[in-house]
Amino acid sequence: MRKDGWARIYTTKMRVDQHIKDAEARNETLFTFEILPPLKGQTIHDIYSNIDPLMEFKPPFINVTYHREQVVYKRLPNGLLEQKVVRKRPGTVGICAALMNRYQVDPVPHLLCGGFDKEDTENALIDLHFLGVENVLALRGDGMQDQVYFVPETDGHAYASELVEQIVNMNQGIYLDDELINNSATNFSIGVAGYPEKHFEAPSLNVDVSNLKRKVDAGANYIVTQLFFDNSKYFEFVDKCRAAGITIPIIPGLKPIATKKQLSMLPHRFHVDLPDELALEVMKANDNAAVRQIGVEWAIKQAGELKAAGIPVIHFYSMGKSDNIYNIAKELF
Ligand code: FAD
Repeated sequence: MRKDGWARIYTTKMRVDQHIKDAEARNETLFTFEILPPLKGQTIHDIYSNIDPLMEFKPPFINVTYHREQVVYKRLPNGLLEQKVVRKRPGTVGICAALMNRYQVDPVPHLLCGGFDKEDTENALIDLHFLGVENVLALRGDGMQDQVYFVPETDGHAYASELVEQIVNMNQGIYLDDELINNSATNFSIGVAGYPEKHFEAPSLNVDVSNLKRKVDAGANYIVTQLFFDNSKYFEFVDKCRAAGITIPIIPGLKPIATKKQLSMLPHRFHVDLPDELALEVMKANDNAAVRQIGVEWAIKQAGELKAAGIPVIHFYSMGKSDNIYNIAKELF
């Protein structure tokens, strides 16, 4: 038998909502994280070398992001621009299968509305179902780079709540073709995204929370938040959700700041604020090694407080590098 893990048989298979319930029953806080597929042409071993050290902290599940196609322009020798549509980080489903084999962990593929019509979605869910994947994070996705607003595919979903509805239908054996009979029901646990500092397109946080409730009413089982650096924003968001009648678990998402450039990149890309204290410390740092250390210390403080509050799962955004996540986890998990 090979010693690298590939010959092992996948044995665990649990829904994320069950992992959360179990953690609550044991009064425990679970460590989980998200990975990105490698850039096209790069090896999966880069992913393994980032994940291997983190397995010490026994993550029950690992999220795998999905990256839709993008329009790129290539300048031709005659000066004209050639437009090409490429997917720079394919491989989400393949990585999920690889994670199951190598680590016996439950993978959570992210599934987008963007770039998928309902038939594509159904077929993607069938692939996951046949692989034994029982978890998905249902997302709308953003518009392509050349679009100001998100544009759904013809016969695709405009909002994540509609994607949740389709998954719930499949969990009841309802497929798109109503002439199919004796259909196999899937058993997906469905996560959705929530934004403690508001989704950037929503007119207000209250409206955004009422739109989040649509996803919950459609059948979502839990929420994972956008990254945040100020725990009071998370706790206020949870209160707002509870007041709006959202009762499902809300998993906080944390990302340690790692470079000076992220001081402007994170607010720009994720529409979140950094607390003054953190921003000023990062601005004073001499180099990115010092910033990385500040980021680790800040995240330890944040995660420690969330853990003390009895949150059953803390989710880390690794953005492809794990040494800082390792340093946080070894203090707390
Ligand atoms: P939705 O829930 O559909 O909401 C989008 C906007 O529409 C919000 O402003 C909402 O208030 C509004 N809205 C919702 N329903 C209605 C309605 N019925 N009428 C009017 N307005 C409505 N992106 C990727 O491309 N790949 C990933 O792997 C990925 N992973 C992510 C993981 C997490 C945990 C998070 C928080 C985000 C992730 N994203 C990812 C980014 C996400 O795709 C974007 O933030 C996207 O802009 C919104 O997705 P959503 O699922 O929250 O959309």
